[in-house]
Amino acid sequence: MNRFHVAVIGGGGTGAATAWDLSRRGFRVTVLERGELTSGTTGRHHGQLHSGARYALADRTIARECMVETLILRRIAADCMEYNQGLFIALDEAEAALAAEFVDACRGAGIGAVEIPVRRALAMEGAVNPLVLKAVLVPDGTIDAYRLPMRFFASAAALGADIRTFTEVVGIDRSRGAVTTVRAVDHRSGKPVSVSADAVVNAAGPWADRVARLAGAEVALTAAAGTMVAVEGRMTDMVVSRLRRPGDGDILVPQRKLSIIGSTQRIVADRDGLAPTEGEIAFLRSAADNLVPGFSARPVRAAWTAARPLAGRSSDDGRSISRDFVLIDHGKKDGVRGLFTMLGGKATTLRAMAETASDAVDGYFGTGTRCGTATAELAPYADYWRQR
Ligand SMILES: Cc1cc2nc3c(=O)[nH]c(=O)nc-3n(C[C@H](O)[C@H](O)[C@H](O)COP(=O)(O)OP(=O)(O)OC[C@H]3O[C@@H](n4cnc5c(N)ncnc54)[C@H](O)[C@@H]3O)c2cc1C
Repeated sequence: MNRFHVAVIGGGGTGAATAWDLSRRGFRVTVLERGELTSGTTGRHHGQLHSGARYALADRTIARECMVETLILRRIAADCMEYNQGLFIALDEAEAALAAEFVDACRGAGIGAVEIPVRRALAMEGAVNPLVLKAVLVPDGTIDAYRLPMRFFASAAALGADIRTFTEVVGIDRSRGAVTTVRAVDHRSGKPVSVSADAVVNAAGPWADRVARLAGAEVALTAAAGTMVAVEGRMTDMVVSRLRRPGDGDILVPQRKLSIIGSTQRIVADRDGLAPTEGEIAFLRSAADNLVPGFSARPVRAAWTAARPLAGRSSDDGRSISRDFVLIDHGKKDGVRGLFTMLGGKATTLRAMAETASDAVDGYFGTGTRCGTATAELAPYADYWRQR
């Protein structure tokens, strides 16, 4: 272990994977999370393990990144996902006309997409809309949104990372331009907490701009809220998506005994206490009927909303902002040395985001460490609780 201490702010997937990566490299790590672990966007997402096919037409770099990370996650955390594949279906002529270009774009990004006969698609997934005109098979899957990050937390804790929940960061002090101390409030005791830190990784997701501001730094962030609706019954085994450029209500994900349609997108100023609107719920149920008829006849189990932390500012609904992740070195950008913000990305790319953030920390200290998380075995998620 080296002598440097890194505070990681945020106990979602990004914070979890960063804590694990830094701990493996020999840094002392303290994670500060204002609520329970995964209580931010990580615990509320759609649960799709993105092969990248969804992004292939718009951005091959992100598509390729998702595919690479999917393969890694399947190796290091196989029990946290179902490899149930995905079906992109064309329901009108315009979508059908996109099929060849879509398959080419996927292949160009290293995603093994293949157009299959409609009859075969319907045999694989009997619940899919029988009016489907074309179908493309892709290596999508589903993630257990809780267990995956918890395996990273369990692994980090096993190497000595100090993981503190219900501890909200309220200040980041600096001396001569470099971070020195993270100040927080322990919501259980109500007492102030002070953690000395040689570097800080801001992994606060949609709250990252607020956390950066505590150190006098700026983060351009768009919080885009997305709603999902879950109904009783596993209508499909595969992830079913519309074969078109990404839009609203075009992905159906099976999760255990539920079927979840998502999502919508609207920009929000307040990222706390988000709730679905009646209009969003009605829209999503009807959009799901196009993918799998009968969805809206099933009892709704839950409807919820989460905020996407998109890197950048947008004047539209946020769809023009890239879904890629961005590392901000606030020493270079704002003169706050030792503060790094990791922003954007997907739950699927949490490991790669952590690698980039940890490389930046390593570069700051000149410690010459290397990332080994693409092959290292993760501890079982329940170890996190066994260690407590
Ligand atoms: C509607 C929707 C659907 C999505 N579906 C998918 C999907 O199917 N597949 C996929 O791969 N990705 C999906 N994503 C993206 C994915 O959910 C996010 O990229 C990912 O969860 C972000 O994780 P994070 O750790 O960066 O942020 P978060 O999980 O939000 O973690 C940030 C944490 O910081 C904490 N925090 C904030 N302020 C403070 C403070 N002052 N002190 C201490 N802690 C603080 C918060 O409590 C929070 O727990 C979806 C996103 C949305 C919105």
